[in-house]
Amino acid sequence: MLGSAIKAAPVNQQYVLCPHCNLHRGQVVGDGKGGRLCQCPECGPVQIEPQDLAAVVLNEDWLRQKLRLALEINSRDGIDQVGPGIWRLGDARQGPVILARSLSTLVRAPAILDGFRVKGASLRVITPKPMDQTAHPFTADIEWLPLQERFAFYGDGISFIAPQGHRPEETPREPAKPVYGPFSSDFRQVTIPGWPHGPIRLSKGQAAVMRVLWECNGEPLLGERIMTRAESSSAKPSDLFKARSKSPEANGPHAAYIALVSTKQREGIYWMKCAKKL
Ligand SMILES: [Zn+2]
Repeated sequence: MLGSAIKAAPVNQQYVLCPHCNLHRGQVVGDGKGGRLCQCPECGPVQIEPQDLAAVVLNEDWLRQKLRLALEINSRDGIDQVGPGIWRLGDARQGPVILARSLSTLVRAPAILDGFRVKGASLRVITPKPMDQTAHPFTADIEWLPLQERFAFYGDGISFIAPQGHRPEETPREPAKPVYGPFSSDFRQVTIPGWPHGPIRLSKGQAAVMRVLWECNGEPLLGERIMTRAESSSAKPSDLFKARSKSPEANGPHAAYIALVSTKQREGIYWMKCAKKL
């Protein structure tokens, strides 16, 4: 599922972490039968499976390219490394976008960012968000995009999650026409073919899940990721769409879910076919 986001990492084939204790490194030797053994100083000889010698790392080039795509950076300048663990990804809407491996590096030395400020455009900074970081770490003119909150990984791409405030105003009392495929603009109403009772009303929680699936453009996403993005406390999408009533009319949300959402239960992934961009 991770596709090109990861690549094989070169590993030392002479020594390996002991597959039995995972504590000591042992020399790799042949077992005389075509296989290999780890000479663990504690456990003695331990058989090595091929996957014990495999390792993967994040494909950083991939990450930077996909972040550029997610932010619609198409400036002609490429990606520049501007410091240790700091890259300039390019310009989005005239404003430069900086990616840094660590937030604390920038917070400790804010002068690093001064050189990137441009008059009349905002400076955006992407970093991973440390667990204990709740406050905005920069001066007010810098927009911070925490990697875990503003970006989602799906299929073989990365999408940008706009802050809530930037979404178009919702007009809850208006008669909802389908705007996004079968959904109204606030995703609270959905129309499915073959349903005789008219448009189906969704709860706020159900609408949030449908919106996340819609925004994935038909790409599969892990159920738990969907629920996190929908800010739901339920474990998986189907939990919110169970048939609850004997009257078929009241089970509209369940019918909409069955009609629109595809799933591979074993892999825990969900997608919405009709959201696929043509
Ligand atoms: Zn061992």
